[in-house]
Amino acid sequence: MNIAVIGTGYVGLVSAVCFAELGHTVFGVDIDEEKVKKLRQGISPIYEPELEDLLKRNIDAGRISFTTDLTESLPNVEVVFSAVATPPNEDFSADLKAVFVVTESVAQHADHDLVFVNKSTVPVGTGEKCEEIIAKTLKDRGVDFKIPVVSNPEFLREGHAVHDTMQPDRIVVGINGDDWAKKTLEELYVPLTRVSKPIVWMSRESSEIVKYASNAFLANKISFANMLSELCEATGGNVRDVTKGMGMDDRIGPRFLHSGIGYGGSCFPKDVKALIALSRETGIDLPLVQATHDINNHQRQRYFKKLLDALPSNATVGIWGLSFKPRTDDMREAPSLDLIPMLLKAGHTIKAHDPIAMENAQSIITEGVEWKDSAIAAAENADALIVLTEWDEFRGADLKKVKLAMKGRDLFDGRNIYEPSEAQEAGLIYHGIGIA
Ligand code: NAD
Repeated sequence: MNIAVIGTGYVGLVSAVCFAELGHTVFGVDIDEEKVKKLRQGISPIYEPELEDLLKRNIDAGRISFTTDLTESLPNVEVVFSAVATPPNEDFSADLKAVFVVTESVAQHADHDLVFVNKSTVPVGTGEKCEEIIAKTLKDRGVDFKIPVVSNPEFLREGHAVHDTMQPDRIVVGINGDDWAKKTLEELYVPLTRVSKPIVWMSRESSEIVKYASNAFLANKISFANMLSELCEATGGNVRDVTKGMGMDDRIGPRFLHSGIGYGGSCFPKDVKALIALSRETGIDLPLVQATHDINNHQRQRYFKKLLDALPSNATVGIWGLSFKPRTDDMREAPSLDLIPMLLKAGHTIKAHDPIAMENAQSIITEGVEWKDSAIAAAENADALIVLTEWDEFRGADLKKVKLAMKGRDLFDGRNIYEPSEAQEAGLIYHGIGIA
């Protein structure tokens, strides 16, 4: 099948490359000329395990090509995916400008029937608005093409995006009664349904809600663990033992039940905010969602305060981890972006290391930080070491060597990845989260 994917970011690029790998012929479209230039050379503009190899292979096989010109991609395509960003507005609502621009452009330039699929995370009702834009644009053009709007939200995890796209738990598709669109999506996903990956069909509205509900639920689990961490600190408990004890109950499950400095990234914060905005707009109370957001902010601020209070003046601080989570270079809403300015303002010297995200971090934090090319170099002569991202190489660090490299002894484990006893045996003073 011939398809176009508009927006070749973390979701669009992975989707486009994986659709090509599954045998479709794909156009990747992006307004960012630099990105498209790199992609044409087989260079991935983002870090995602396995992605660049798949990209190169499918360019060589002639199954994927890239353009900045939407009109170049439209002739002959049966499906157009929109995978543009939907970042939060000041008032927490999702910024849908790019989605609507893409919708209108597709309707403006389509020269045949095609299915328009929203892969971006969009609030309930957006599909209907896209349909109105398409109907008006086609009417103004005086043409009568069929362009149904389908919701097909994305559930991939950065750092595992290729795996998640090729091996999805489920494919959610929301269609409001268009048999042709349903048949087209069925055909598109045959390479996955043939290997027993299920499509869950539902209305477009339900599908739009599923995505937010899933992210808010996971964020809520994290906030629940973080809420307990404060209780543990005050009462002599250990949140790791508490969540372990809870998570072994298979009605609860261990995943996303970890306490730390709170969730970040491009999805949880913005999707929780968008639900809060939707709650205001619809008048439907979503108190668990508001609490999830509040606890996350509280957790981050209370750990940062504890950390800043404990540092000597003009301290040298080593930072391990800059991206919002391991296996990605994505810096959106990363805790490091909150903490580093606070440390600099307080007069501390910062040496930072991240295995992958350093280049992106440097483009955001343009001065004041010494960037180090190894974890141990970031710890050298530091009064304190702060772990902000749970990269595997930090988990496996030899804490005795770390202690020897450091000047001071304070280890702030913002991700609760070390055993307190292990740090203490290495001669470090351990500051975890939720451990009395
Ligand atoms: P992104 O910012 O990485 O990518 C968006 C891309 O769209 C950029 O390359 C940008 O240049 C391009 N773009 C913007 N306007 C355009 C236009 N008019 N025409 C063509 N290209 C245009 O965003 P992302 O992280 O890939 O997220 C995309 C959507 O997927 C969002 O709604 C997000 O919530 C959702 N989502 C993201 C993830 C994730 O882990 N990143 C997971 C699931 C769902």
